[in-house]
Amino acid sequence: MWSTAADELAHGLRPVPSGPAYRVNSPPANAPVTQELSAELARVLERFAKDSGFSEQRPVHIQFGQGTVGHHQAGRAADIYGVEGIGIEKWKARWDAKLGLARRAEQRHAPARQERHSNLGWRLYKALQVYGYWTQPYGYPIQLFGPWTREEGPWKYISDGLLAAHGDHIHVAK
Ligand SMILES: [Zn+2]
Repeated sequence: MWSTAADELAHGLRPVPSGPAYRVNSPPANAPVTQELSAELARVLERFAKDSGFSEQRPVHIQFGQGTVGHHQAGRAADIYGVEGIGIEKWKARWDAKLGLARRAEQRHAPARQERHSNLGWRLYKALQVYGYWTQPYGYPIQLFGPWTREEGPWKYISDGLLAAHGDHIHVAK
């Protein structure tokens, strides 16, 4: 159940704001989060945008979705479903196709390098991993999950179930 706008304001929750080099979708999909999470995402998204060649003149578009379980209820988690209008699962399928082909051809390096340069889903995941500070509840892994988690970490032992649950979005919590 979602609280009213007045409740959200009273608890200091707000949707993740757009930044100079990135734009986010509007509420209600861009669900309100804590000020702390909002600030962390804003910092990392701007860094991702600039690193990936976007700018104030040509910002990148990020699509948030509405998570429902666990940390989402307190505004402490956010789910990202797309970059530049392309779903995270499509970015991952493209990644797998490019690197799978490269592996078979035994010429991995050039396609991998090219895909690291141009795959915005993978780039966003890595920016969140490298530049973000996410929560790690006692006894639980760092709260960054997505379709790349088993290959890239931070928690490579992710279960099949949890990996499947994050096949189409990136989840972060703070
Ligand atoms: Zn989530």
